[in-house]
Amino acid sequence: MSFFTDAQEHSLQKLHQHEPGYAENLAFLKDSLEEFIARKVAPNAYRNDIEEVFPVETFHELGELGFMALPFPEAYNGLALPFTYYAAGLESLTKADAGFALGVAIHGTVSDGIQHYAHETIKAKYLQDLIFGRKIAAFGLSEITSGSDAQTMATTFRYDSATQEYILNGTKYWITNGMSADVFFVMARDEQGKVSAFVIDKAGKGVFEQHKIMDKMGVRSSNTAELVFQDYRVPSYSLVGELGNGFKYAMRMLNGGRITIAAWSTGIAQGAYEKLLKYAHERKLFGKFLRDLDNTKKELSEMTIEIAASRELYLHASYYKEDKMVAQYAAVAKVKATEAAVAICERAIQLCGGYGFVRDSKIERHLRDALLGPIGEGANEVLKIVVIPRVLYQAFEKKPLTSTW
Ligand SMILES: Cc1cc2nc3c(=O)[nH]c(=O)nc-3n(C[C@H](O)[C@H](O)[C@H](O)COP(=O)(O)OP(=O)(O)OC[C@H]3O[C@@H](n4cnc5c(N)ncnc54)[C@H](O)[C@@H]3O)c2cc1C
Repeated sequence: MSFFTDAQEHSLQKLHQHEPGYAENLAFLKDSLEEFIARKVAPNAYRNDIEEVFPVETFHELGELGFMALPFPEAYNGLALPFTYYAAGLESLTKADAGFALGVAIHGTVSDGIQHYAHETIKAKYLQDLIFGRKIAAFGLSEITSGSDAQTMATTFRYDSATQEYILNGTKYWITNGMSADVFFVMARDEQGKVSAFVIDKAGKGVFEQHKIMDKMGVRSSNTAELVFQDYRVPSYSLVGELGNGFKYAMRMLNGGRITIAAWSTGIAQGAYEKLLKYAHERKLFGKFLRDLDNTKKELSEMTIEIAASRELYLHASYYKEDKMVAQYAAVAKVKATEAAVAICERAIQLCGGYGFVRDSKIERHLRDALLGPIGEGANEVLKIVVIPRVLYQAFEKKPLTSTW
């Protein structure tokens, strides 16, 4: 199986074929990235899942290849390509190793946030290294007692005007890349409860500890950590944008994050689907191939439809990533793709029977990985109950439907 499907290519063709450089950009995804994934990522995914290893060297090499630089502006030596190329590449990367790809995706979200909102000193210090994967980034919003209700975070900051430093205290939890990151985008609140964001590294004064969270059911080749700050002092330029606006920046970053999780989930679904498709051409039962049973045809068709819908939605949201409608597009794509992935992985295991139930089939890993999708980057329940209706109602107020037909 190819790592880059014809369907992915056609979707990109539709959006970009008339733009200069389209053939070269597509060739990067189909040749360089595909070769890299086949050589470095796919062969190690099984072992990294078992041993809970995030392949740091592979991350650096992917950066050197230019993958993380795809959507970044030329001012930072990025390739200034539409986000769609990056998202499509992420889909392929995820098909090979969803844990590793999750680390890449979150790194991208943070790099994007730094580019948009951080102090010039921070950009000068880190952005080049982040864009080319020489440094790794992590996003620190969640805490053990505050996930969906993130504004209730307990991590605090205060300003020491004598030293012109911010002082962080608290514990972040569930932080992807938390063990291997060099740069951390961390949210904390002041005495009034207002949230600000900080970009920090490990060179501050005070306590900064990283503890690995073990035994996750899925995305085991990503590392997830608890980060502990005790009187951790960071320079004043660590503050992102304006004081008290940290939550706003985090939510905007999560729009991009949700698009990448939609692409990520589509990659998982495609992986499970392809393994089922291959097995259905090999397995014989009742004198037929599994693929020739009516139910298999129907379910493969349904999977094709769900994957196509997921892919179109994440590419649509990617295309409009800087549009004011992005919150809606990203949330819709994320919900659809994450739910489709879980359903497809579950059905792929069912249709593979006992074979699907063992590690060796490599399908069960897809289900374990897929189950993170509906939880992370805004639980789907929150997106359906809060985010999507909010945008819907705002749109209605702006442009009321005075008549319907
Ligand atoms: C492997 C992994 C990696 C992660 N990586 C990161 C990271 O890099 N950075 C980071 O900051 N966080 C990260 N997270 C945290 C993740 O974003 C949170 O787990 C998620 O936001 C849900 O928060 P919670 O786990 O506290 O669940 P809770 O907030 O306790 O929610 C539990 C459940 O309640 C339901 N629910 C929640 N709110 C509502 C509502 N308003 N209405 C109806 N139902 C609702 C949902 O079903 C939800 O799943 C990661 C988590 C995991 C498991």
